[in-house]
Amino acid sequence: MHPEFEPVIGLEIHAVLETRSKMFCDCRLVASTHEQPNVAVCPVCSGMPGTLPVVNHAAVEYALRVALALECEIATTSIFARKSYFYPDLPKGYQISQYEQPLARNGRLKIDTSQGEQTIRIRRVHLEEDTGKLTHLNEDGETYSLVDLNRSGLPLLEIVSQPDMHSAKAVRAYAFGLRSILRYLGVNSGNLEKGFFRIEPNVSIRPVGSRTLGTRTEIKNLNSFRALERGVTYEIERQTELLLQGKDVVQETVGWDEAEQATVSQRSKEDADDYRYFPEPDLPPLVIEQDWVDEIRASLPELPHAKFKRFQAEYDLNAYDAGVLVADEAVADYFEAVVAADAPPKLAANWISGELFGLMRQQDVGIEQLNLPAEDLAGLIKLVDAEHINQNTAKEVLEEMLTSGESAAAIVKARGLQQISDPEQIAHWVQGVLLGNPNQVAEYLGGKQALSGWLFGQVMQAAEGKANPRLLRAELDRQLEELSEGR
Ligand code: ADP
Ligand code: MG
Ligand code: ZN
Repeated sequence: MHPEFEPVIGLEIHAVLETRSKMFCDCRLVASTHEQPNVAVCPVCSGMPGTLPVVNHAAVEYALRVALALECEIATTSIFARKSYFYPDLPKGYQISQYEQPLARNGRLKIDTSQGEQTIRIRRVHLEEDTGKLTHLNEDGETYSLVDLNRSGLPLLEIVSQPDMHSAKAVRAYAFGLRSILRYLGVNSGNLEKGFFRIEPNVSIRPVGSRTLGTRTEIKNLNSFRALERGVTYEIERQTELLLQGKDVVQETVGWDEAEQATVSQRSKEDADDYRYFPEPDLPPLVIEQDWVDEIRASLPELPHAKFKRFQAEYDLNAYDAGVLVADEAVADYFEAVVAADAPPKLAANWISGELFGLMRQQDVGIEQLNLPAEDLAGLIKLVDAEHINQNTAKEVLEEMLTSGESAAAIVKARGLQQISDPEQIAHWVQGVLLGNPNQVAEYLGGKQALSGWLFGQVMQAAEGKANPRLLRAELDRQLEELSEGR
């Protein structure tokens, strides 16, 4: 970043509220991209004249959960509005949204970056409906578009932040943190690729010290967190370059081009006036009872940031480990169950974020589907901690646990994998290797330090991998020291 300029970024996030049915009709929510187009469509969500929308109660509840988790003020009365524009993905010719009186305002979300904790203010949270999906094709010189209305009318929550972020890292932390909250609340699966969680950053640049905002661009088509970080970084650099050359930034919408790793101009930015917003005449004001709000507030789970703080305090974890564990509630719960079964927290964190995450990625499953009860992992960790088995043996044992479902202790016993800590036995193995490899020993004593690792490996091999590595190391060092003194 150029020292004279400061990036300013605010985010609009659209999250599909994954209720059973759509926002204003009974059509089901199609979650799988494998389903045929237009299988969940009715006269309401295809915009037939004479149909009337009915508000989905569950969607309002989901929206309230989010608004409360973000510490927003809830509007007792909010108003649906028509946002008019003409495009084939919008069969009615307008989108039902909220404009002047949104469901919620003035919230906040705490994020943690390497610069420490920061509070990002939330400007507004409102309900709307999603549009259909267009696929543009070009075959044999003919261009045409296909319209799929499965997505048309899905409940959509728009969450708008204040322009409080000043780096791509902060943007990522905010978007990631928000997604994590939505998943904790069970309202959204957080799938960027499927378009169920869409992040649109607005980026501008201003001279350091200035209080006015520069001209912004809005980035679309960011389908992963990596794309988000790169897209924002690219836009910051592009705009900085323009300003350095004395040129102006044009207010517009740009799209992230994954192949080019660049943003490309999409369209000039429309003003609110172009949308001719007006109150939706087919829906009454949305009135929220205080009792309902209180009930939902009381039912909220412990949220990621609070858990993050608690994990550090209660289990003495560092910020990195705590952050990794709380990102997914199922993982956080699993971790706590492992610790409750008496595994040391730091070891539990290492095993989960190392071995288990590796397995989850490999099998593309969540931690619950790993077929490894928390007590069983705790059993394995305790064997390592008590030096009954070493780390390498433990990894082998884990593999067998996953296939056979047996406990770590049973596998260690049946296969005789118990680590050997008997000092005499270890001394014996060490002596054997030193006697059997006089040349390497001589080279080591002559100053070739690296050979000590090789000798360690030889002893471990003699012990069939079962020697206590800590004791082996100490004994090997002791005997080598003795030889060196005896020279
Ligand atoms: P619109 O809905 O027309 O896109 P809003 O004013 O509601 O515009 O802002 C959308 C998002 O853009 C908000 O997150 C806001 O914080 C952010 N934003 C607005 N102006 C700027 C700016 N000059 N630089 C960076 N972000 C901005
Ligand atoms: Mg916008
Ligand atoms: Zn429908």
